[in-house]
Parts: sequence; C-alpha cells; structure tokens
Amino acid sequence: MKYISTRGQAPTLNFEDVLLTGLASDGGLYVPETLPQFSLDEIRAMRELPYNELAFKIVQPFVGGCIADADLKAIIDDTYGSFAHKAVAPVTQIDHNEYVLELFHGPTLAFKDFALQLLGRLLDHVLEKRQERVVIMGATSGDTGSAAIEGCKRCNNIDIFILHPHNRVSEVQRRQMTTIEGDNIYNIAIEGNFDDAQAMVKASFGDQGFLRGERRLVAVNSINWARIMAQIVYYFYASLNLGGPDRKMSYSVPTGNFGDIFAGYLAKRMGLPIDQLVIATNRNDILHRLISTGIYKKEALEHTLSPSMDIVVSSNFERMLFDLYDRDGNVLADLMQRMNNETVELDADKLAKARELYSSAAADDEVTSKVISDVFNDTGYLLDPHTAIGVHAARTTRWNKDVPMITLGTAHPVKFAPAIEKAGLASPELPHHLADLFERDERYTVLPAELTTVQSFIADHVFG
Ligand SMILES: *Cc1c(COP(=O)(O)O)cnc(C)c1O
Repeated sequence: MKYISTRGQAPTLNFEDVLLTGLASDGGLYVPETLPQFSLDEIRAMRELPYNELAFKIVQPFVGGCIADADLKAIIDDTYGSFAHKAVAPVTQIDHNEYVLELFHGPTLAFKDFALQLLGRLLDHVLEKRQERVVIMGATSGDTGSAAIEGCKRCNNIDIFILHPHNRVSEVQRRQMTTIEGDNIYNIAIEGNFDDAQAMVKASFGDQGFLRGERRLVAVNSINWARIMAQIVYYFYASLNLGGPDRKMSYSVPTGNFGDIFAGYLAKRMGLPIDQLVIATNRNDILHRLISTGIYKKEALEHTLSPSMDIVVSSNFERMLFDLYDRDGNVLADLMQRMNNETVELDADKLAKARELYSSAAADDEVTSKVISDVFNDTGYLLDPHTAIGVHAARTTRWNKDVPMITLGTAHPVKFAPAIEKAGLASPELPHHLADLFERDERYTVLPAELTTVQSFIADHVFG
C-alpha cells in the first residue's frame, strides 16, 4: 500500500514512513493511493468476529506488509484488550431504530483511544525495529492529549510533549493528562488558547531546527493517517452488530477536525452499505455552513459546552476535498491556499457531490443541554455534550426512519461535568479504573505562549 499527498508534490511513502510523518513536505496530508475493497460476502463473513479480529481484517491491507501479520495481530489484541468493556464498542438503543455507538470505554474515556492506543503501540514497534528515537509534540483541547500520553507512556523511544491551553480544559481532562507517570512525559500548560498551542506545534513541525541531533517530530493529531485508519473499524463493527451489511445504516458524527466522519466515508467507499453520514457541529460550524450554503468562511472561535469540537478550521476536510476534486493535487494546493486566506465558494458540481455524501446540522449550548436532559428523561441514559450534538443532528436531518440511525458516542459524560450540571443533572461517578483520579499527583509546567520559550523547554528535556 502506497500513500500520496493531497497536494501532489511530496514523495510517495509506505505505511511505516507515513506513521512517522506529520504533514507531507508539500503541506498536504497523506492518503492511501487506493482503498481496499470488501464485497458484501466478505463483509458478511466478518459478522462473527470480535472487535480485535475485525480490526485486524480492516487494518491489515493498509499496513501493506510493513509489519508482520503476527506482530500486527499482537499489537491490535493488546490495544483493544486494554478497554474496559468486553465488546470494546458496544451499541446502546435510545429510541426506536436509534442508537449510540459507545466509543468511550478506552482508558481515557473518549473515542480517541481507538486510534491513539493503537498508534502508540505501532510507533513503539516500528521505532524499536529501526532503533530510532522520536519526539512527539501535540496540542490538545482536552481529549487527544490524555489518549496520546496513555498510548505512548510505555514507549522507550518516544519523548512526548503535549500542550494544552492553561485553565481551558476540564479538570478531569487535565488530571487525565497530568497524572500519568513517566520520565518521557511532559505536559505544558500554555498561557493562551488552543489555537495558540496549535500554531506553535505547526510552526515547530515546519522548522524542526530547535531539536538537537537526529531527532524528528511525530504527529499525534488526526493529520496522522494511522488515526483515521483505526477509526474505520468501528463503523463496520456497529453495522455488523445491527444486521449489516444486509441493512444499510446511517451515522451521525460529532465533528471537529473531520477525522472521525472521514473514517465513516472511507468505510462506505470500502464497501460498507451506509445511507446517511451526518456532520454534527456545535456553534463552530464552518462545515455545516459549507454544506448548507457552499461558502467556506472562517469565523472566530467560540467556547462551548463541547470543547473538543471547538475549532476554526477542520484540518482533515482537506482529505475529503481531495476526493471531491478528483484527486488533483495541483487544484487542491491552489484551493487550500485560497481557503486559508479568503472566503471561498465551492463549485456547484462539487457542492452537489458533497451534499450527496453528507447531511449536516449545528447545535448551540442551549440545544445541547436540552438534548442531554430530554434523552435522560426519556431513557435514563446520560449523553456527553458532544454525543448530544450528534443525536440532535441525527434527529433533525434523518430522511428515512426505517434505516437505523447510529450516533457516535464520542466521550463519557464524566469528562464534561459542567455540561451535565448545566442540563440540570448530576455528574456521574468516575469509572473504577479512574476512581482515585482526584487524589493522584499532577505534573505540568506552565509556559507563556511564546514559540522560542516552548521550543527551548522541549530541546532541554528531550532525552540524551
Ligand atoms: C476529538 C473529539 C471530537 C471531534 O472529532 P474529529 O475527529 O476531530 O472530528 C468529538 N467529540 C469528542 C469527545 C472528541 O474528543
């Protein structure tokens, strides 16, 4: 399997190199040159498989022989064996023909564990084989940081630096990052917002000269292809559990950087019968506005009850545009340049294609709270605010009630206590593996939002 850049000018890479790369050298994102295809018969034959075995079947063609099958199997078994629910990704019913796919049974209670627990183990394997050490640098608005640290904490060949906006992540989220023990783990609280942290990470990837020696930076945000790949699996798993592939399913996906829903689009292209794919956003609704009006326009960041979806631009949407624009790297390089600098109107035929693929809806904080309390009153089931936005979008855009509608349950409600309390409900208890979270010692360093200060801190603390 070969990987190509969305902007057409960077070298073609294999899986192992893509794993160790952030942005492509031309500024684009890597995508597979072709997608593995599964026939309905082949998908039907996967019905009996437990999550880890299904994951191996879906992931193996993407790895393309870079990791021996037996090793890959062991890595996948270990990854999903660390989840607190035997089914790994169980489906819960919340209304007639309406479901939540629970993706929060991993160690850090959000769907990002599906990709980052795997990514950490894959990196460890590859780096051990190459006898190489790397530096992970990432910015988080909350969920990515803890999942990345948890996934990489055992890796002897990785130093990991995670930047979070000081005082702008929930206490549970902060403690999940800052209480993980390890000499190779550094949490940096930036005196600024998420965009400041993200901008420093971007600049550091662009010019890695501040790192000494032969070290390089590896990305853990969803520009890393392996994250998208791991997320394709649970679309197959949920469909197969509800009668697929002989029934179509629809999915509603709480969306920020467009990683999770892009994985759903790929599952569909690989042969899984999917009817609707719904983009669910909070008030940071650039994608909902794009699908409903055809106009791509950046707006100021809003802080909402669903902070993991508080974004200005959606980085993975570039991968979708690449397909919409018939995989023409030159056209895309020009389009991305324009989208970065000005308001852009999508060509009518491209917009029509996007609307065939996606429905969309946005919810503000008031709607989010109402959905949390409505669903709790109707079923006794507590949604986290991100999932609630997914349920809202599912209900307002659904075009066929006979098709099961599955909302991706992206986080456990305990991570977002303020939103639960705002909905007039009591915050749930921490699951038993995190029960002592508030007693654990925290370790983090507060730094100003200055690139050179952050880079010197990293250079000084990289091992060796
Ligand atoms: C990251 C995250 C999202 C958004 O996922 P994307 O892949 O960035 O679209 C939604 N909900 C939660 C809880 C998250 O942590």
